[in-house]
Amino acid sequence: MNAHVSPMVGSIPSTTLDRLDAYLANHSFDKPTLIMDLNQVEAQYRALKSGLGRATIHYAVKANPARQILSRLATLGSRFDAASRAEIEMCLEVGAHPSEISFGNTIKRASDIAWAANQGIVLFAADADEELEKLAQNAPGASVYIRLLVDVSQADWPLSRKFGCDRDTALRLLGLAKSLGLNAVGFSFHVGSQTRRAEMWGPTLDTLAAIWADARNAGHALTMLNIGGGFPAFYGEDIDAPTAYAAKVIEMVEARFPHVAHIMAEPGRGMVAEAGVIAAEVLLVSRKSDRDIHRWVYLDIGRFSGLAETEGEAIRYQFETPRDADPSGPCIVAGPSCDSADVLYEKRTVALPLTLKSGDRVLIRNTGAYTTTYASVGFNGFPPLDLVVI
Ligand SMILES: *Cc1c(COP(=O)(O)O)cnc(C)c1O
Repeated sequence: MNAHVSPMVGSIPSTTLDRLDAYLANHSFDKPTLIMDLNQVEAQYRALKSGLGRATIHYAVKANPARQILSRLATLGSRFDAASRAEIEMCLEVGAHPSEISFGNTIKRASDIAWAANQGIVLFAADADEELEKLAQNAPGASVYIRLLVDVSQADWPLSRKFGCDRDTALRLLGLAKSLGLNAVGFSFHVGSQTRRAEMWGPTLDTLAAIWADARNAGHALTMLNIGGGFPAFYGEDIDAPTAYAAKVIEMVEARFPHVAHIMAEPGRGMVAEAGVIAAEVLLVSRKSDRDIHRWVYLDIGRFSGLAETEGEAIRYQFETPRDADPSGPCIVAGPSCDSADVLYEKRTVALPLTLKSGDRVLIRNTGAYTTTYASVGFNGFPPLDLVVI
C-alpha cells in the first residue's frame, strides 16, 4: 500500500495497528513470519457476535488453528466447526465442549466419525448417500445437516462446485437420514469465501428459503439453518464493518426463515484475517530486458509458503514497504521457489516503489486467515510460514 493511502486498514481500530506495528518495529525476522494480535481476534469475535444476534458462532478452525486463537475464542464462548479429527482434538484441548463442536466436513473418514462420536460430537454434515450410511453406522442417532450446493456465488474465493448437493438430492437425503435412524436437523450452505457485501447473500438465501419450504411441506421438521462463512476481510476493496455486515446478513436470514429455531454461522476469514500481518522480505528486484516497463519483485514468501489464495489472483493482498513515500511503478510479484506457478500477481500488476530493493522489509496486511496452514512443508527447502501470537 502506498503511503498516501489512509493508514486506516479495514475495520481495524488503530490500537491494533499500534500493537502489531510496535512489535514489528522492535523485531527482525530471518524468515517470513505471521504476527497475530489476539486482542484483535477477540475484537472481531465481539463485533461479529453483536451483529449475528441469536445465531451461534462456530469458528471455522481451518482459517487459523493456532492454539492461542482457539483458546481465546473458547474462553469467549465461541463454538467451533472442525473438518477433521485433528481439528476436533485441537478444540477439545482448549476446553471446548464436544456439544459445541460440529464435524462440518462432508467428506469424513469412517473411523474418524466413530472416534468423534465416541468423544461426544453430535453434529455432522453430509451431502451424499454414502456419507449418511457412514454416519448411521459409526455415529448412530447423530444429528446431521445436509449441505446444499450454491451456484450463484459472487464471492472472491467461491467454493461452490465441490461441496453440497442440489435440491432434489437434499430432500431425498433428509428422508434417507431419517430412515437410517439419524436426526436430520436442517441445511447448511456456504455463500463463498470473501463475499464482500451482505447484499450478495440475497439470491442464495432466496434459493435456500424455497428449498426449506419444500422440505417442510414434504414433512421434514427442520430446526437448524447453518449459514456457513463468507464474512469478508479488507484486501483493498471496500467492505462493511463486521457488525453491520453480520447484522444485515442476519436480517436477511430472519426475513426468509422466520421460524427456524437455531441459526449457526461459521466465520473463518472474518474472524482472523485482519488480526494478522506477515513480515516478509524482498529477495530480488529485476527487469527481464532494458525495455521492460515492469519490474519483477521476488519475495521470500510465495504461493507455496502461505499465500495460496493468490491462486488465480483471487485474493489481492496489500503490500506495505518502508519506501512507500517514493514514486511507484508496476511490478510483477513472485515467490522464491523454483516453480513457475509461484507468481503471485502478474495479470494485474502491483504498484511498488521504484526505489525498492533486495533486503527491504515488506508487510502484508490482513493475512491472519488461510496462510500458516497453506504453507508447504519445505518445498525447495523454504521454511513454512512462521507464526508469532501476541
Ligand atoms: C471454510 C469454511 C468456513 C469458513 O469460511 P470463511 O469464508 O473463511 O468464513 C465455514 N464453513 C465451512 C463448512 C467451511 O468449509
